[in-house]
Amino acid sequence: SEPLLIVGASHAGTQLAAAAREQGFDAPIVLLGDEPHTPYQRPPLSKGVLTGKTEVDQLALRGPDFYREQGIDLRLGVRVTGLDLSTRRLRLADGGQLDFGWLALATGARCRPLPVPGADLQGVHILRTLDDAQAVVAALGASQRACVIGGGFIGLEVAAALSSVGASVTVVESQPRLLARTFPAAMSDYVADAHRRRGVALALGCGVRALHGHQGRVVAVELVDGRRIDCDLVVLGIGVQPNSELAEQAGIACDNGILVDALGRSSAPNVLAIGDVANMALAAVPGGPQRARLESIQAANDGARAAATLLVGRPQPLDAVPWFWSEQHELKFQMAGLPAPGDQTVLRGELASDKFTLFYLREGAVRAAHTVNRPAEHMLARKLIAQGARIAPELLADPSVDLKSFFT
Ligand code: FAD
Repeated sequence: SEPLLIVGASHAGTQLAAAAREQGFDAPIVLLGDEPHTPYQRPPLSKGVLTGKTEVDQLALRGPDFYREQGIDLRLGVRVTGLDLSTRRLRLADGGQLDFGWLALATGARCRPLPVPGADLQGVHILRTLDDAQAVVAALGASQRACVIGGGFIGLEVAAALSSVGASVTVVESQPRLLARTFPAAMSDYVADAHRRRGVALALGCGVRALHGHQGRVVAVELVDGRRIDCDLVVLGIGVQPNSELAEQAGIACDNGILVDALGRSSAPNVLAIGDVANMALAAVPGGPQRARLESIQAANDGARAAATLLVGRPQPLDAVPWFWSEQHELKFQMAGLPAPGDQTVLRGELASDKFTLFYLREGAVRAAHTVNRPAEHMLARKLIAQGARIAPELLADPSVDLKSFFT
């Protein structure tokens, strides 16, 4: 029978291959990736890999024998350059071609470039791949002063990691507050305070005008307001863009990623998209978004599992509660559900204790929860969100009230 070709051998692609086999898919599977490394976990790259707590050989997504045992033909260092829908054929950079029965695009995303002079100086890094992370680690040895451009999750994780190994770190964020896309102002202020207390300097509400170098190496970041941050290492964390060009060039519908339904189906027959490249339809939540391009391990894994059910003819659309996590200093953030503008927020616990949950209620129902150092509460919150539990704010805010008592 005709093979399943998966383009992109990372979280989403590897999970799809594994889930397809688990669910009984027995046609050939070819997993194609352009990176040289056996599929590995990305989250530690901005955490333990930078601090040295995680060894590179701990990063593998699956054991070395997994691919052979599961009959998954893993081909690394292979770049796919073209997709022809009429002949169901992929073109490879080396001139080769491959025919498919099913195609899954799991090409992920790449770092957005910083459009200012000096962005190509030595000492300016991005962080997406293992090679990127190893380049930052190698640069760290000789570096005292780091500037992180972008106060999103990855930028803040990098700032925390670099400061914990002794670098002096400044985070530059053009928005007036950190994590403004995810958090309300009170949480942004909490995060800013948490970083400042641990010695990370923040420059908020100001964009970057240029990076300056000496003999080809970065020496300073110049802000739009004229301030100058001296540094010998810059890490960019200003977001990503989906690798959707293969789909776009083939005429597949895209809009901030490849548009897919809750089974991962694109506008082209037999072509799926999963993970960071997919703008996926979400299970209906009142007042919530209809679709989103979620950049998380959960979305990659659950999207891949949903797509696998289609391959074996037992379609089960994705309806999981979205969640992801972040680690900064000794703070573990866990985010469940998708808040919407106008949600009522209810705090359980105290910000100052570094242990709390911020719940988001919409028309009386729990729709999202952001947790700091409360892993058990995060798990309970996910259940409450899945149920759309209706809880009076004063009960939710009261730590002596057992959240389990609201399970139906
Ligand atoms: P990717 O992991 O981007 O993989 C896509 C792969 O496809 C890449 O290897 C790419 O090179 C390859 N590819 C692209 N185009 C082609 C082509 N034409 N031919 C061949 N191969 C191609 N998420 C969390 O939930 N929690 C976290 O704490 C967290 N931390 C993160 C920290 C870092 C530093 C980064 C970078 C991401 C983090 N994420 C985290 C996000 C998470 O890693 C992504 O959501 C996840 O990697 C998405 O998986 P993916 O397989 O869709 O895409």
